[in-house]
Amino acid sequence: MFGKRVTLLEKHYVVGGLNSFYARKGRKFDVGLHALTNYPSPASGKSSPLLKLCRQLRLSIDDFKLLPQSCSRITFGGQSLRFTNDFEYFIDQVKENFPRSIDSFSNLLKRMEEFPAYSVDAPEISTRSTLADSSIDPLLIEMLLCPTCYYGSARPNDIDFPTFIMLFDAIFRQGLSRPELGIRAILDPITEKLKAFDVDRRMNCGVKSITTRGDRATGVILDSGEIIRSNQIISTCGIRETEELLNLPLTEGESTQTGKFSIIESIRVFDGHPNDFGWGETVVFFNQSEKFNYNCPDSLVDLTSGVICMPDNYGSPREGKEAKLRVTHPANFEMWSALPRDEYIDQKTTWEATILEHAMRYLPNGDIHLGKLVGQTRLTDTFTPTTIKRFTSHINGTLYGSPTKRRDGSTKYNNLFLAGTDQGYVGIVGAMLGGIAVANNQILRAG
Ligand SMILES: Cc1cc2nc3c(=O)[nH]c(=O)nc-3n(C[C@H](O)[C@H](O)[C@H](O)COP(=O)(O)OP(=O)(O)OC[C@H]3O[C@@H](n4cnc5c(N)ncnc54)[C@H](O)[C@@H]3O)c2cc1C
Repeated sequence: MFGKRVTLLEKHYVVGGLNSFYARKGRKFDVGLHALTNYPSPASGKSSPLLKLCRQLRLSIDDFKLLPQSCSRITFGGQSLRFTNDFEYFIDQVKENFPRSIDSFSNLLKRMEEFPAYSVDAPEISTRSTLADSSIDPLLIEMLLCPTCYYGSARPNDIDFPTFIMLFDAIFRQGLSRPELGIRAILDPITEKLKAFDVDRRMNCGVKSITTRGDRATGVILDSGEIIRSNQIISTCGIRETEELLNLPLTEGESTQTGKFSIIESIRVFDGHPNDFGWGETVVFFNQSEKFNYNCPDSLVDLTSGVICMPDNYGSPREGKEAKLRVTHPANFEMWSALPRDEYIDQKTTWEATILEHAMRYLPNGDIHLGKLVGQTRLTDTFTPTTIKRFTSHINGTLYGSPTKRRDGSTKYNNLFLAGTDQGYVGIVGAMLGGIAVANNQILRAG
């Protein structure tokens, strides 16, 4: 848009990265997209990050045809908190379920508003230790950590406070939605823009290494051996992955941490609609006990916490011929990738059944409906940490990159920048806004 010649190099043959799409037996699937966060409610007005993103990329938000969530839920043991895209409703839920914590919760809201979470200099303090002295009921703290960690934490059992605030705003204050036609409603207009601006977009085009001289990056060598020289480079493949392309660490002193958090997700396509089973919610975050455990498990899959998403429950209730139920749990990359091929397939099949059966505990009358749902299942598709690694090249099949973040995108090379997840801006909206900030503040300012 500003006269730079741009070449975009993508290793995969499809756009979208962790938020891509694929087809199975004639059906379309989104890879990620449980929810597009930051729903631009009337309350958030023009300051909505999603509207800001559209303005910057010159996209029309109307083209996304966003369907708002119905209602979502966090369930820990026997305790539940519901939320919609009306933040006042969530506050009422906190009042109702944790009456003794409402003052300390209000203080936390004020503290979050005053904290410079969106600044590139935001201190990356621990949310757990920040909330520990807040007098908020420990169970409420655990329940608030669950959706925020699942939607963006690279740290085991914690999330840094600025990211917690950004995700709290994105999920609870603004809310969740989904484009009617899925992730392609966002990806297609972007690829059209790239074409209109004459971007040289090369798919199936992996970068093997980044070349440097002194304090500058000079270009890249592709897997094909081709050399491309460039004045400025933005890497969106992750901080550790970029270090591997350089064969050098990017941080001085303390070494960059390697992220380990990955997931398994099992998707059921079934005849009918979730409403047929009395399931009207869009997303359910659940945890077995009152203590949230968010970590890379010591087993293939950790069933103690997870997320259920029913994408067909966005928008007004409607009849459907087929619908999807997606269930996500933490999973161990090393253990999945060590399995011989046959055993990998067997384990996937076994876990598909276990995951579904287990998820029924968290849906109304799930135990009664399990048999009917299995009978109406037309297709099951499951991806594991190794699938994520194969299609995105993220070390350990990690979902949110390294716990080491670079908010301003800078590296020790003065013309090489990081954008996306390892800037510390996560999710679909966060990763794109992070990229825009690097383009504006680093690339265009340098002239
Ligand atoms: C199952 C799942 C569900 C999710 N659900 C949601 C959700 O509901 N809402 C939400 O907001 N976010 C969700 N996310 C998170 C979101 O997808 C990520 O935060 C976001 O995609 C990160 O974008 P990114 O550009 O930083 O990195 P990525 O999306 O990981 O993109 C990195 C790209 O770099 C390419 N690449 C890597 N190495 C090389 C190389 N050497 N040469 C060339 N190209 C290379 C990869 O192929 C990839 O396309 C989900 C993710 C997953 C996996």
